[in-house]
Amino acid sequence: MIDYPALRLLIDGRWHDAAGRNTEPVLNPATGAVLGELPHATAADLDEALAASARGHEVWRKMPAVDRGRILQRAAALIQERSEHIASLITLELGKPIAEARVEVETAAGIFAWNAEEGRRAYGRVIPSRNRVIQQIAVREPLGPIAAFAPWNAPAITPARKISSALAAGCSVIIKPSEETPATALAIAELLQEAGLPAGVLNVVFGHPAMISGVLVGSPIIRGITFTGSTAIGKQLGALAVQTMKRMTLELGGHAPVVIFDDVDPEAAALSAVTAKFRNSGQVCTSPTRFFVHESIHDRFAAKLSELADRLAVGDGFNAATKMGPLANARRVEAMERFVDDARARSIAVSAGGVRCGERGFFFRPTVLTQVDQDCLASNVEPFGPLAATASFRTRDEAIALANRLPSGLASYVMTSDLRHAAAMAEGIAAGNVIINHWQASLPETPFGGFKDSGVGTEGGIEGLQDFQSIKYVSQFSG
Ligand code: NAD
Repeated sequence: MIDYPALRLLIDGRWHDAAGRNTEPVLNPATGAVLGELPHATAADLDEALAASARGHEVWRKMPAVDRGRILQRAAALIQERSEHIASLITLELGKPIAEARVEVETAAGIFAWNAEEGRRAYGRVIPSRNRVIQQIAVREPLGPIAAFAPWNAPAITPARKISSALAAGCSVIIKPSEETPATALAIAELLQEAGLPAGVLNVVFGHPAMISGVLVGSPIIRGITFTGSTAIGKQLGALAVQTMKRMTLELGGHAPVVIFDDVDPEAAALSAVTAKFRNSGQVCTSPTRFFVHESIHDRFAAKLSELADRLAVGDGFNAATKMGPLANARRVEAMERFVDDARARSIAVSAGGVRCGERGFFFRPTVLTQVDQDCLASNVEPFGPLAATASFRTRDEAIALANRLPSGLASYVMTSDLRHAAAMAEGIAAGNVIINHWQASLPETPFGGFKDSGVGTEGGIEGLQDFQSIKYVSQFSG
């Protein structure tokens, strides 16, 4: 176990502690104990951060992309070097098992490395002219200072994605990571400073989320926003961003369907699904949740999934035997109880879990609701927690309709050995990601984004960089 660091703000390359500022406690979800006090940015801090990001942007956008890439590569190397420390911070603040936290840190380093490389490839194009003496080019320019808002469920990956893509595109950033997992994001900011990032290019603030986003999104200095969180808040920020015509990347809620056809071994499917479902206590926007299983194998799948869920070791993430840690906060535990109460009131079988556990902290047993109807809460609202809901289907068209019936469309999963089913689902499901016969919904080099209420814009891959670039057309007469 490591010491929890003093929490600070980073503005214009300088660290600011809690002196003279309001603070809020950060809790360890495994124990409920206070880890530290987080300073809130004042209105003057935000003004300073905005001015710093404007100055920082001018410095950064003029730096050759290859030099920017070197700084990002150094940051990637430092993340790897400090992997154990950062992973411990994640487990302390969020609760996920340390082995999962290590994988998250490795992914965060990979995201920095990918963007470090990709930033050098901000290619424009030459457009053949209608006139021999006119040259026409389209160039990609950094969009401008970016305001980024990251939630608590991936304390390293989400800030890493937002910061490194915007920086690689040549933009400065003001980020408000989650107030519930601040030390992980601060560790990344600290190593970026060490890697040589000029002052003002990255600023880190915390505080009352609506106050901070109101100031940053309302400011004409900020040219783009990137937010990951709930659809409700994403819509509020989007409405605010439109007032000053800002570009926006919104990664919002999902409620991922999983369609399992009858050509699959139901026990083997359950075995792979249980790990995917209860990773990070199900607090993942791509978490597989609505399991639609062919009627001929539904009961076998549901029985095996429930049995495996019941056997999962739940406990402190630092304990090597733990397979699932606590939930991130008391709000999620209360939410889980609402899903289970609603199911019980409708006589839906709670075939695993459904109850709190542990003597302290925010623990809830891995939960499976079997043969749910499509009216219950779990069929309609993203649980964002350790809850799977199964239902059966007869035909492929019915499965597509079930998968598509919600306003969300982020990740989706299909299990089949029939190429015709796979092709029909890839075409038929309205979601940003269709993952067939495995569970890896995103990688640094692949595009990730939602359809419909799940968001706008794309993170990851070459598209993730383009969200932070403007296209300028230059036409030059040289006759
Ligand atoms: P929430 O909607 O209150 O907060 C979600 C995130 O948005 C938090 O990090 C919060 O600090 C931030 N936020 C809230 N209001 C904001 C504002 N006005 N301006 C800027 N940022 C703001 O919900 P919560 O209780 O923290 O999480 C529960 C729900 O949020 C879940 O049900 C889930 O659907 C969604 N969520 C989604 C993701 C995702 O990866 N898409 C991540 C975390 C939470």
